[in-house]
Amino acid sequence: MSRVYLESLGCRLNAAELERLARDFAGAGCTVVDGPEDADIVLLNTCAVTAQAARKSRQRVRALRRQSADARLAVIGCWATEDEARAEGFRGVAWVIPNAEKQRAVEIITGRVAEPAVWSPGRWGHTRAFLGVQDGCDHACTYCITRILRGPARSRPLAEALADVQALVAQGAREVVLSGVCLGAYGRDLGLEHGLATLVGAILRETDVPRLRLSSVEPWDMDEPLLRHWENPRLCRQLHLPLQSGSARVLRRMGRRITPEAFAGLVSTARAISPDIALTTDVIVGFPGETAADFAASLDFTRQMAFARLHVFPYSERAGTPATRLPDPVPAAIRAERAAQMRALGVELAARYRERFVGQVLPVLWERRDQRGRWRGWTDNYLAVATETDAELYNRITETRVLAGEGGVLVGEVVG
Ligand code: SF4
Repeated sequence: MSRVYLESLGCRLNAAELERLARDFAGAGCTVVDGPEDADIVLLNTCAVTAQAARKSRQRVRALRRQSADARLAVIGCWATEDEARAEGFRGVAWVIPNAEKQRAVEIITGRVAEPAVWSPGRWGHTRAFLGVQDGCDHACTYCITRILRGPARSRPLAEALADVQALVAQGAREVVLSGVCLGAYGRDLGLEHGLATLVGAILRETDVPRLRLSSVEPWDMDEPLLRHWENPRLCRQLHLPLQSGSARVLRRMGRRITPEAFAGLVSTARAISPDIALTTDVIVGFPGETAADFAASLDFTRQMAFARLHVFPYSERAGTPATRLPDPVPAAIRAERAAQMRALGVELAARYRERFVGQVLPVLWERRDQRGRWRGWTDNYLAVATETDAELYNRITETRVLAGEGGVLVGEVVG
């Protein structure tokens, strides 16, 4: 029986895919192990969203080879799709599986078709279950390689997604995170109107999942029926709305189907429905043609939106994307400097958002003990919390009073 080690880089959809692969390997009679040194087969689900992510994927393939010299490596996912020939040339790599064949990865590697196996909380260091319900994208953001590597938008049928959630809950999942490349497009290919709102409504109505979280929704896919679901406390008060730039001119060049004004309107509607919602976002800095004035506008708008968390990316040329043909590239040093400024703003905004909750009682899903022996977990509005207690909190949701902030973490005490 093969022992398999699985690792994922990049987005939450990759994490969701890894959970499914782990279940499929177990269902095909393999043992999933916790470290590469214990494995006969090592699988890496790669990322290529930026040049840096692709580089990290290559570095990780080499490192896994060193850690597990006798294992056969399977390299799958976006970088394996982008650079299949190069991936095949790495020592120890036995399989390179592009996105189009990812669904069949377990069959390709083991020669066996998986029987459904049980999800187990905590296997990947967290107690949330990541569930991929959508893949691919039909939009045309000019910088984006993902849509090229992942293909057109397609959705998991609603009944199957619902059954997946029910199965995860039956197996102990306390929180399910719905993931997709373009999650807001969920159901369009199935002919569903307000597809994601319909799916979320069905999950909240027909399952007992204590917490449901959405990974990321493009702003133009947000609609009133979806926003209304945040009136239900079981839908985690977090909304990841990718902004990418606060400058209208840059947004147009990026091919984004939103203006800063429309984005601000969405943010105020979301806050009217759920005042404490954690709004998180992605921002690209140094996009071709981004002037100092555009960057200042982006910084200013990002500050006004008072995001709870920022993911900042210096623009990275990806071969085959239209943005590589745009004039006026921003020099690398300026991109780096703008990224540092935007990240500093992100730190400031995150601290301001966190501090609002000191003294409040929040629900926390506990995941693991940290190096100091404290329990660590997440609130529904995506704040990291630590507490000292002898109690066994693993995979439990407790009411927790926040006592203080400590770096990027809130310290609290369990009150219920
Ligand atoms: S919405 Fe834009 S950024 Fe997101 S996957 Fe589609 S093309 Fe890429």
